[in-house]
Amino acid sequence: MTTGAIRLDRARVAPRADVEPLLDRPWVRTTLPGPLSAPLLARQDARESSARTYPRHLPLAIARGAGSYVQDLDGNVFIDFLNGAGSLPLGHSHPELLEAIQEQLSVLQLGLDFPTEIRDEFVTTQLSLLPEEMRSRTKIGFCGPTGANAVEAALKLCKTATGRAELVAFQGAYHGGSHGAMAVSALVSQKQRVAGQMPGVHFFPFPYELRSPTGTREGLGRFCVEYLERALRDPLGGIPLPAAVILEVIQGEGGVIPASTEFLQGVRRVTRELDIPLIVDEIQCGYGRSGSWFAFEQHGIVPDVIVASKAVGGLGMPVSIILFDERLDAWGAGAHTGTFRGNQLAFAAGVAAVRIMRRDGVLENVRELGAVALAELAELADQYEIVAEARGSGLMLGIEFVDPANGEPSNEAASAVQRSALERGLILELGGRDDAVVRLLPPLNVTRRTLDQALAILRATVAEVAKRGSAPGVA
Ligand code: PMP
Repeated sequence: MTTGAIRLDRARVAPRADVEPLLDRPWVRTTLPGPLSAPLLARQDARESSARTYPRHLPLAIARGAGSYVQDLDGNVFIDFLNGAGSLPLGHSHPELLEAIQEQLSVLQLGLDFPTEIRDEFVTTQLSLLPEEMRSRTKIGFCGPTGANAVEAALKLCKTATGRAELVAFQGAYHGGSHGAMAVSALVSQKQRVAGQMPGVHFFPFPYELRSPTGTREGLGRFCVEYLERALRDPLGGIPLPAAVILEVIQGEGGVIPASTEFLQGVRRVTRELDIPLIVDEIQCGYGRSGSWFAFEQHGIVPDVIVASKAVGGLGMPVSIILFDERLDAWGAGAHTGTFRGNQLAFAAGVAAVRIMRRDGVLENVRELGAVALAELAELADQYEIVAEARGSGLMLGIEFVDPANGEPSNEAASAVQRSALERGLILELGGRDDAVVRLLPPLNVTRRTLDQALAILRATVAEVAKRGSAPGVA
């Protein structure tokens, strides 16, 4: 299942010491950013929009990636648990995916929405991933190649099909950076919001047990469903019947918060009874990330619309789709267009990725190693007061840092862990309220060996940050 270590091409990397590391273990030999990465970061800072995000906290200029590892321009090697924000399900540079893309590259690259053999195979593959009962009722829509565009498509489709205008979303949600997708995302920071955002979106509580509005974890899912149901059924509830309810089965950017089965089944019951289409955003938690092809499958619900992107393109090849119940197929020709809806390279890589994942038992790997990792993270929560809890499903995991004095989210601790882990050769992303959650998104075929390397770094890092915090007079 491993992609194997790749030897570096000396001609294309910076001159370095005479050791030639394999990309199979963390190896950091410079301060960060290193002397060759720093000028590129500075040029980026000068020339690119202030909206850039990752390099602000992870100051690297990347030279190459292989499997679960990336190497920066200075030759430092890192375990990459950011994983192209979850869009490299089999890691970087998977040789069989490279081959599939190269083969397709010489045949046809962009096909708009004309049928092609590889597009047809891609559709067959996508439908085959669905639970049996959904397959014959499901239609697929190709969107502009980002997750956000598929969210736009899903919202538009439900508005067209129902003739309604309002939408229900959840606190903590993230659905993308375009206008409509942003409007259903619970972003309220001054620098992220825009004036004149799409109106008609109503946010409801999500079952975030650590910070339960009822003061207790017990029955929180039921509470959230009742709250939603009453508002929607109440003639004085203030909310007209919505065109759709949209949710993430596991909130990702919101801080790795899995919804409980009680909540999901409740929302499904209410939406079905009131004839409101339910959209599940599986852009991050789908395609095996949670341990099943789609995260919703683990909760015994059948949504009306699935939104998918990221891992669908196999090797970071841009593609996004909506999979929806045929009764919603109300669009006329051109109702959702987009030049890049025919990325043949993404189709080839997506088909190959699913074939490899089935062949290599990658979902079993996700479940097995996910359980190992979650148990280790839970130990950190038991051991250190600054770790409030470990959460997640499969290989979508997070630990939330708090200030032990008041239980409030601690960005200070999470940022310190992110920085210190990077210095030891592990790339981790933050999320959640105040960016206090350290998130792990390993490739789905990560090996036990790499996972152990990463967990060892994380353990050492958390211990160091906890000690620093408890030392008198040290921030
Ligand atoms: N929905 C979810 C759940 C996501 O995690 C993301 C990306 N992080 C998006 C939508 C938006 O996808 P994209 O960045 O490709 O537009």
